[in-house]
Amino acid sequence: MFSTAFLDLPALQGASGTVTLPGSKSISNRVLLLSALCQGTTVVHDLLDSDDTRVMLAALRQLGCGVEVKGTTVTITGLGGRAWPTEAIEFFMGNAGTAMRPLTAALAVKGGDFTLKGVPRMHERPIGDLVDALRELGCAIDYLGNEGFPPLRVRQPTLQLDKPIPVRGDVSSQFLTALLMALPLAAQDRAITIEVVGELISKPYIEITLNLLARYGIAVERQGWERFVIPAGSRYQSPGSIHVEADASSASYFIALGAIAAGDPSKGSQGKGIRIQGVGADSIQGDIRFMDAAAQMGAMITSGPNWLEIQRGAWPLKGITLDCNHIPDAAMTLAVMALYADGPTTLRNIASWRVKETDRIVAMAAESRKLGATVEEGPDWITIHPLPAGKWQRASIHTYDDHRVAMCFSLATFNPDQVPVRIEDPKCVAKTFPDYFEALFSVAHTAATNIPVICIDGPTASGKGTLASRVAAQLGYHYLDSGALYRVTAYAALQAGLTLEAADEAAIANLARSLPVRFEGEQVLLDGVDVTDAIRSEQGGMNASKVSVLPAVRDALVDLQHSFQRLPGLLADGRDMGTVIFPNAPLKVFLTASAAQRAERRHKQLISKGFSANIDALCADLEARDARDMSRSVAPLRPAQDALQLDNSQLSIEASVEQVMVWWQSRQVFG
Ligand code: C5P
Repeated sequence: MFSTAFLDLPALQGASGTVTLPGSKSISNRVLLLSALCQGTTVVHDLLDSDDTRVMLAALRQLGCGVEVKGTTVTITGLGGRAWPTEAIEFFMGNAGTAMRPLTAALAVKGGDFTLKGVPRMHERPIGDLVDALRELGCAIDYLGNEGFPPLRVRQPTLQLDKPIPVRGDVSSQFLTALLMALPLAAQDRAITIEVVGELISKPYIEITLNLLARYGIAVERQGWERFVIPAGSRYQSPGSIHVEADASSASYFIALGAIAAGDPSKGSQGKGIRIQGVGADSIQGDIRFMDAAAQMGAMITSGPNWLEIQRGAWPLKGITLDCNHIPDAAMTLAVMALYADGPTTLRNIASWRVKETDRIVAMAAESRKLGATVEEGPDWITIHPLPAGKWQRASIHTYDDHRVAMCFSLATFNPDQVPVRIEDPKCVAKTFPDYFEALFSVAHTAATNIPVICIDGPTASGKGTLASRVAAQLGYHYLDSGALYRVTAYAALQAGLTLEAADEAAIANLARSLPVRFEGEQVLLDGVDVTDAIRSEQGGMNASKVSVLPAVRDALVDLQHSFQRLPGLLADGRDMGTVIFPNAPLKVFLTASAAQRAERRHKQLISKGFSANIDALCADLEARDARDMSRSVAPLRPAQDALQLDNSQLSIEASVEQVMVWWQSRQVFG
């Protein structure tokens, strides 16, 4: 997951390959609650790991449920047949609507002394219609803040279930879902009827609810979309184990990707389009119907059990007018596809956008306009005009703590003007798809010239490694420690019984060409074995110096170093990064510090590791090494012509990072 302040997405040119999507948020949280309300144990497979499900799991634990998490498999031991908590409990629901609504209903029907709170935005999301319906059937619920909104306090109910319970269906279908999941708890000796007031929106989500209720032994009788009857004697029964489908709303971004992005001809039939694993056209999730809308706009889609394949069909895409009531969440993705269409696209019947994580009509309009698009909006509709070549602007996309806004606008990177797109607060995707950007990068491709590289060169012990890895962390970029490659090469050569002299040059180069090296955080693995300590010693550095003067070895490591230039970008540290390996890098920094300063730092470092050291000797060593490094004939130490010099003798590491960030931001200006 990217937890940086922003993520700069390079312009992308194509996409192909397979993505496996995380479990559906809607199914995950319903399944968790239903499993909690059952008697017995349910093994839930492929559960989504996200903010929303974590909120739900935490709440279930507070209630006394058994919860055992092993990766994406979660075992829930339900509360059925067990003592219901009598002590006061306060629940923190974050911004998780799919946890807040159904849990409120279940708690209110069972009764107790419960407080439900959330983040400030949760306290702005209406819940009055659900509370009204619950009060109608005798639940005791108080508003602790504003009327109609969380936080809430729930007490012991006096249930009156003889007459039909009215619930509004035209604000959020989650209210009806909440009632449908809570009322079986009270239907032991009588049937309970729910009556929908107003036109029911988001019917597909109700279908998911009914489908899952059936899996848990509750056969709700549906009369049109107006009346729902929970039969007398209903009792939750665990299905034993259950699989969560991949999220169909998450699939929308990759369906759109397949429709927008050209394949990769260099990969032959492998390079044709996108395959999505985990959900197919027969999904129980309503958002799967997004595929029809995408097909109308031009996508070519085929499907089988649990998979979808998408290729670009019509290009440019075709503008459409669509009632999106049945796909409220996925419809946002159409708004971005619309930028690539041949005419305007109007999405109608999307009033529910206004009460989601943010006002999504306002958000989609505002952010599309930043890209240069013309957008019109009304109370429950939006029209997006195509954005022709030559008109795309570099934009910094505000994401409103809304995962879907972030994921949608990542698709703007396929723009014909090849401008990069900045996504603010990229970690907001964690709500439903923590590794969304990783998944996107795993199938997207672009020209190397589009993938930014920042080079940090400089003399030994100048602190370039620390600086480069810190800047990489701030930007969410990869990090290449080229010195480590020379260190590992020397280590591997010695292991293989070679000397580090010119006589073995060809053999060492051969080793270097297919070096099985992997970086995992701070660790360096050679053929799976941790060699970090072995190569980080002073001796390791000397050995690296020796192999690094062998031209064939330097040559052999070029491809490996280039292979680190991957999406979304790279920080490369080492002496010839800016001169030889990435000569076209848009930012090169030459980091220096006085020999005395470097000696002092190295001294501290050695002492802290328990080695004895003498500052004067270290200083003399460094000066000698500088002289050698600058005068050596192969890859001498010298700044690239276009490098910016940074003397960090008097700077803290934070100040140095800040300086590099300022330089970088001045080259990567987003409107
Ligand atoms: O940066 P580090 O101290 O790990 O590098 C070890 C040695 O490898 C350097 O002193 C230098 O001689 C060599 N090296 C190189 N070219 C690079 C990186 C390191 O020649 N790009």
